[in-house]
Amino acid sequence: MIIIMEPHASDEQINKVVNRVQELGLKAILNKGEIQTVVAVIGDETSKVPSTDVFDELSGVFRTERVQVPFRLASRTFKKEDSVYEIIPGVKIGGNEDLLVMAGPCSVESEEGIMQTAHAAKAGGAKVLRGGAYKPRTAPRTFEGLGELGLKLLKQASKETGLAVVTEIMDIRDLDLVCEAADIIQVGARNMQNFSMLNELGKSKKPILLKRGMSSTIDEWLLAAERIIHHGNERVILCERGIRSFDSKYTRNVLDLAAIPVIKQLSHLPIISDPSHGTGKTAYVKSMTLASVATGADGLIIEIHPDPENALSDGPQSLKFHQFYDLMEEVKQVRSLVKPMYSPKKSPAGV
Ligand code: PEP
Ligand code: MN
Repeated sequence: MIIIMEPHASDEQINKVVNRVQELGLKAILNKGEIQTVVAVIGDETSKVPSTDVFDELSGVFRTERVQVPFRLASRTFKKEDSVYEIIPGVKIGGNEDLLVMAGPCSVESEEGIMQTAHAAKAGGAKVLRGGAYKPRTAPRTFEGLGELGLKLLKQASKETGLAVVTEIMDIRDLDLVCEAADIIQVGARNMQNFSMLNELGKSKKPILLKRGMSSTIDEWLLAAERIIHHGNERVILCERGIRSFDSKYTRNVLDLAAIPVIKQLSHLPIISDPSHGTGKTAYVKSMTLASVATGADGLIIEIHPDPENALSDGPQSLKFHQFYDLMEEVKQVRSLVKPMYSPKKSPAGV
């Protein structure tokens, strides 16, 4: 961490800063320029200085900047090798494992629909069935999911197909119920900074799919992951699902593809891409899926539906089954081309 003093800060102001650093059990090294002084702080600042405010509020301080990344447990510095998790026996994600495809409807709508979709997901090569039982909907009086029945149907579909299940938790009071059906618990974009929920999920044993908040920075996202790990659950999977920008006329969100190599450089956690929410339009799902694979994503989560036009949520971004099958063939080709380039020793970020 460095503390940059204001131009011509007095010796008294500089000494106060140095004393504060030392009181916190850290070492201060002064770098005196002709106009400005910079105080370098040496030591384990993450636990001793939870907020840079302690220095920023002192008189004569211009700005305090952390040099180390603010997340520790989620960082590459803490763990150099890619994290790999086994979701269910034989199904893994991360590192050198196969690309993990999760597919299914936005929401579980009916028994027939989810069974059909689960078989289609499996036929296309997915190993995980997605489907919301509790849906975050902006407008009230829209379909908010089948709740407990939806979870039961997911469990039934999983039993019938052998697919693992990923489903979203909306209320931490449903944790036990959700855990009965889910092999991966999804935290949606809207809950990425629901800190009390993240704390509780840290105590769970299930892997957590942490979607990026729609206006969250990469640091905020990794700090949300850090919180889950800090509370005891190391198995966090990140999901880039697009962020809000100024132009939502043609795409629902802006799928931040660059976030994939950035995360690979900063963190050991696996990262998957959600081109369905990332674009909001079926027409663009294919290209963004292939691009995500090309950037080194560890997996994909894709919305598919037997009849997108009549879906109860997110029909406009869902693929029909035949579109999903075709896409999966192309995914295999791109993956086989890029995989040798992205082996752990040569990750997308060259770390
Ligand atoms: C979803 O996966 O259907 C969903 C609601 O995603 P997000 O939280 O990314 O909007
Ligand atoms: Mn959806």
